[in-house]
Amino acid sequence: MKGLWGKLLRVNLTDHTYAVEDVAEDVARATLGGKALAAHYAIREIKRNTDPLSPENILYLFTGVLTGTPAPTGNRFVAATKSPLTGSFTDSYGGGFWGPELRFAGYDGIILEGKSKAPVRMHITDDKVEFLDAAELWGMDTWETTERIKELQGKTPRPIKVLSIGQAGERMALLAAIIADARAAARGGVGAVMGSKNLKAISVLGSKRPQLAMQKEFMTLVKEQNMRLNKNPVTSDALRYRGTPNILLGVNAAGGLPTRNFQTGQFEEAEKIDGEAMRKELWNDGRNWHPCWNCTIKCTHFHVLDAPGYEGKIDDGPEYETTALLGSNCGISDIKAISLADYIIDGYGMDTISLGNTIAFLMECYEKGLIGKDMTNGLDLRFGNKEAWMAAIHAAGKGEGELGRLASNGVRRAAEEIGQGSADFAAHTKGQEMPAYDPRSGQGTALSYARGIRGADHLKPWVFNKEWLTSGERTDPFSTEDKPALIKRDDADSAILDCICVCRFVANELNLENDFLMLVNAATGFGYDLQEFLDIGERAINLARAFYSREGFGRREDVLPKRFNTEPLKDGLAKGNVAKIEEMIGRYYELCGWDDNGVPTKEKLRSLGLDFVIDILYGEGGPVETARAA
Ligand code: SF4
Repeated sequence: MKGLWGKLLRVNLTDHTYAVEDVAEDVARATLGGKALAAHYAIREIKRNTDPLSPENILYLFTGVLTGTPAPTGNRFVAATKSPLTGSFTDSYGGGFWGPELRFAGYDGIILEGKSKAPVRMHITDDKVEFLDAAELWGMDTWETTERIKELQGKTPRPIKVLSIGQAGERMALLAAIIADARAAARGGVGAVMGSKNLKAISVLGSKRPQLAMQKEFMTLVKEQNMRLNKNPVTSDALRYRGTPNILLGVNAAGGLPTRNFQTGQFEEAEKIDGEAMRKELWNDGRNWHPCWNCTIKCTHFHVLDAPGYEGKIDDGPEYETTALLGSNCGISDIKAISLADYIIDGYGMDTISLGNTIAFLMECYEKGLIGKDMTNGLDLRFGNKEAWMAAIHAAGKGEGELGRLASNGVRRAAEEIGQGSADFAAHTKGQEMPAYDPRSGQGTALSYARGIRGADHLKPWVFNKEWLTSGERTDPFSTEDKPALIKRDDADSAILDCICVCRFVANELNLENDFLMLVNAATGFGYDLQEFLDIGERAINLARAFYSREGFGRREDVLPKRFNTEPLKDGLAKGNVAKIEEMIGRYYELCGWDDNGVPTKEKLRSLGLDFVIDILYGEGGPVETARAA
């Protein structure tokens, strides 16, 4: 097979064994790796009602067909599993270098089953797979873990690449992330699943390169695409010099910047934390680049920390989401402090989006008198109190006290415990905390969050861009009419990028039909036509949605918390707006080929070649039939 290796490493952590297994060519062709391939395995292999933190759950670390190839930003891997945060399928992505290195070792992915009796780490060098004692690493943060593993492995022909969890993952905190090369596969608690298996880290060193069907044609495309990326104003200037926070003032103008736990959508100190401030104050005029593998966009910048105790340490970032949710959403405007927090949270191995949200939620609860100092580890946890905010971050990372427990397990659990109406302003859907765009600022963003299979999600798709930011195709943020079709189409298109595993930011210039279809055909020789290629995105979504439906979730969960439906936005261009999910959700299901409860119909599944999913969902005693009979 060309493009993909067609090889997966199946690991049994219970007895420290492994086997290399083939991916059938028809499965490779129908999925291209990444999200679709992971969902294909997950719905078959993870049994319904599996406890996400039990040995029976399975963690898939998969790459896509373009990972490790010369394709622009071909550097992603996905961590997919049953999420302990949401109870459904989750797929969380990381860039950097680890994914390409896994491909260089000759694998498209790793399937992690079972649970090691004691802390273990894996080291993979091409065909050699070792299981090594990780007792001395247990308790270390991800920075220390990476450095120590490099020391332990000694001199290697090229630097090894390390993926690991921090203390949060070890103790199975629900906001735990998997960290590789200072990039986080952060969402959905994937780090907790890795921790539940007592797996501390996987280091990799490979000596091969993915085989391409039409190498010369592929390289011609790559050259031309990189030239265009180097001319596009977003990919060659905005992201390159001001990183992802280059959009912060635009989001603020719309009224969509989460501020003090989404109580308002504009932050009075927004200019202090936007991309221009970072360029000048943190990133050496925007030239401290630290891009992921094979990326000319270079949105990631490093900042050399100077805080006491952290002098000389390097933070990669902070990114927009981190800046908004730990910054404006907590009432913090000190970008050096936000960068330090970013470094510390990466070390503990946590999701900055979810943690920023959860601390902000607790701040609102504290200010409203719903919790007292007995639940804040004695801290005066008010918005803007930088010392308390940093102490809360450490408490969450270490799981210290009541605050640590509450902050590290997300807003849904915290709201359930605190009660007193706090669930109305706990900013999540399905248990996953909201990204940094207030869903009241646009009906597309609102629908996107409400029906997100992995919970509130800006990447599946990033519709806020079309509502407020882009100079390209725009949509009226206040109209509900076009949003069901827009979300359906853009979600499927985005899902293809998650299968082939490239960074979303290339889509500022490159498109599916003229760029990625051609790259994929040159890589694989499969000769896809456009429709067959587009079907891969829909297939990925329907596999994930079928997993969601099988766990008993449906329309009841495709909602937003009360604040976003009833409290109009207070500021910005979207002032006065609330989310109108009920006007859109039925039409959205219809366009997706799902029933009134949002369950993929047999006809839809059959049209995507997913007949085996029909048996899982609708077979005798299957969840859909059982629910109907009840
Ligand atoms: S644009 Fe940024 S996140 Fe995307 S691959 Fe490049 S450096 Fe990584």
